[in-house]
Amino acid sequence: AKARGKNAFQFYASDMNVRAMARLELEFALHRVLEREELALYYQPKIDLASGRCCGAEALLRWFSPDLGSVSPAAFIPLAEETGLIIPIGEWVLRTACTQASHWLAQGVLEGRVAVNLSGRQFASGNIVAMVRRILDETGLPAGFLELEITESTAMDVDSDVLGQLSSLRALGIALSIDDFGTGYSSLAYLKKLPVSVLKVDQSFIKDLHHDRDDAAIAAAIISMARSLELDIVAEGVELEAHRQFLLQHGCTMAQGYLFSRPLPAQEMGRWLAGDKA
Ligand code: C2E
Ligand code: CA
Ligand code: CA
Ligand code: CA
Repeated sequence: AKARGKNAFQFYASDMNVRAMARLELEFALHRVLEREELALYYQPKIDLASGRCCGAEALLRWFSPDLGSVSPAAFIPLAEETGLIIPIGEWVLRTACTQASHWLAQGVLEGRVAVNLSGRQFASGNIVAMVRRILDETGLPAGFLELEITESTAMDVDSDVLGQLSSLRALGIALSIDDFGTGYSSLAYLKKLPVSVLKVDQSFIKDLHHDRDDAAIAAAIISMARSLELDIVAEGVELEAHRQFLLQHGCTMAQGYLFSRPLPAQEMGRWLAGDKA
């Protein structure tokens, strides 16, 4: 039994080493991702449910590492936040998305706004407003074509004067949306004070709403609340025709999900936009 215990411990210890090594390897590679140009943005169309037409796109970060393969943002964004690398990476994301949007605008194919995800760390860094203004200047994108998505927890963090920064961004003419709505614990009173124009209903409520009565009730309640606060609503993770029907019936205006399109490389998104226009 003793021997087995020792083996079990060794197995556990080496398992920990493997995980620690994997994290170090990931962090090491993440430090070089910008200079090695390993990042790309994909774009997922947002669909106006009433007309079925594209009404915007969300930029989603992709990392293709020659050593590690394709790394999911769910795996590397938390690490980028912990290490502070989200600051230069986030700036790259915004510059790339605005440059792309400005090309689509010049080509006459851009529909609606291009949305970029911001992390809470970027608000804590204290110069996000200046950074956004500089990038709009550099890329020539009019502010009305940009939307910034922040999560409920970022919006609720009163310490870093998020409210003041959001108001400055809004004053530039940028649209703001609350991402993953329903997964945090925002108070409605506070939500009303935020200068946001869109709520994005988290995909966890959409996924099963065709057979789970609780999820259907929550989704319907969020939609009706957003409507009474005069906010636009985007349902995320719409995969099924049954989802689309439900959302349309309950007054949801926009949706995003595999039913319409997966996130696409920029060139494919451009073709998608051009085709959608014709
Ligand atoms: P998110 O902002 O909630 O993005 C939506 C996620 O849902 C994306 O995952 C998208 O690919 C996925 N998705 C879209 N339609 C469907 C569907 O019909 N079914 C299912 N099951 N999934 C769908 P992705 O691209 O892996 O991104 C994961 C998260 O990483 C994002 O969640 C966002 O929080 C974060 N992220 C991605 N890009 C950036 C970025 O540039 N900056 C920051 N700060 N975070 C980012
Ligand atoms: Ca998002
Ligand atoms: Ca989301
Ligand atoms: Ca999410």
